[in-house]
Amino acid sequence: MPSFATEVKNELARLMYDNNCCQRAELAALLRMGASMTLGFGRTIGISFVTENAAVARKILNLVKLVSEGNVGMEVSVRRHRRLNKSNSYHLRAAPSAQVKQLLTELGLMKGDSFNVGSDGDLLRKGCCRAAYLRGAFLGGGSINRPEAGSHFEFVTGSYAFAATLVSILKKMGMPAGIMERKSGYVIYVKESESIMDLMGIMEAEASLEEFEGAKNLKELRNQVNRIVNCETANLQKTVKAAYKQVAAVQLLKEQGIFDGLPEGLKEAGNARIENPESSLKELSELLGVGRSGINHRLRRLEQLAKECKGDHEA
Ligand SMILES: [Zn+2]
Repeated sequence: MPSFATEVKNELARLMYDNNCCQRAELAALLRMGASMTLGFGRTIGISFVTENAAVARKILNLVKLVSEGNVGMEVSVRRHRRLNKSNSYHLRAAPSAQVKQLLTELGLMKGDSFNVGSDGDLLRKGCCRAAYLRGAFLGGGSINRPEAGSHFEFVTGSYAFAATLVSILKKMGMPAGIMERKSGYVIYVKESESIMDLMGIMEAEASLEEFEGAKNLKELRNQVNRIVNCETANLQKTVKAAYKQVAAVQLLKEQGIFDGLPEGLKEAGNARIENPESSLKELSELLGVGRSGINHRLRRLEQLAKECKGDHEA
């Protein structure tokens, strides 16, 4: 079964739209997240990208073709990992060329002859493009847990500048995003499930959002049921404990020959308790046709008498 993160990626990778601005923003984030640049002759630049997700690989091919208007082609090779039970990996490669450099310049990843680690401000002016940028970042290096596994959403990137850009976009959208450093790089995370759902909505992962929300509601319902069951179990244990104390009291009074001399009402209650050690006060009250508080009072009285009797003996 594919992980939930893979499901979300598959859904997002299939989304296609006509806005050229968003295509550029999504591709820029995807490449910033997962691509490495290769140097060629005459200061030309190439791109290489490895992913285990076939839908992501197709998306990159599509976006590169659209944004470069067919000027940059990419080769794909598949590496199969049959033995280790690992998924295949897809290696995308555009050989170094002036066209690739032109594409990367247009996307803001290059400025002149050097890499631009800057903020991608030009690509992020419009809300539609900011959403597309997050989508690209998620496809390139995002991860998400279902609510059952503890709601968690994250991007991992090796670039601090890119991490800071993602955090500032998320904060602008009102998401409580945090950033931390791990061995694998900078981790930008969102933990709260409501925010994760907002984020999925912004990225337009509609089907995944629905699944997430369903699982979240189910989890909450289960927790609620567990709380009620625990509470009822505790109450039941309390009731049973109280009942057995009453039974013990009546037995003691009988052993001591005190019981038979007690008023009828007390004897009636005591015998009813001994015969029905597991009944609730309500059930005893129905059995004897006496009010619940009346039964309660009589049983307390019996316990009191047993206690006094014990006291006499110990003294
Ligand atoms: Zn746009």
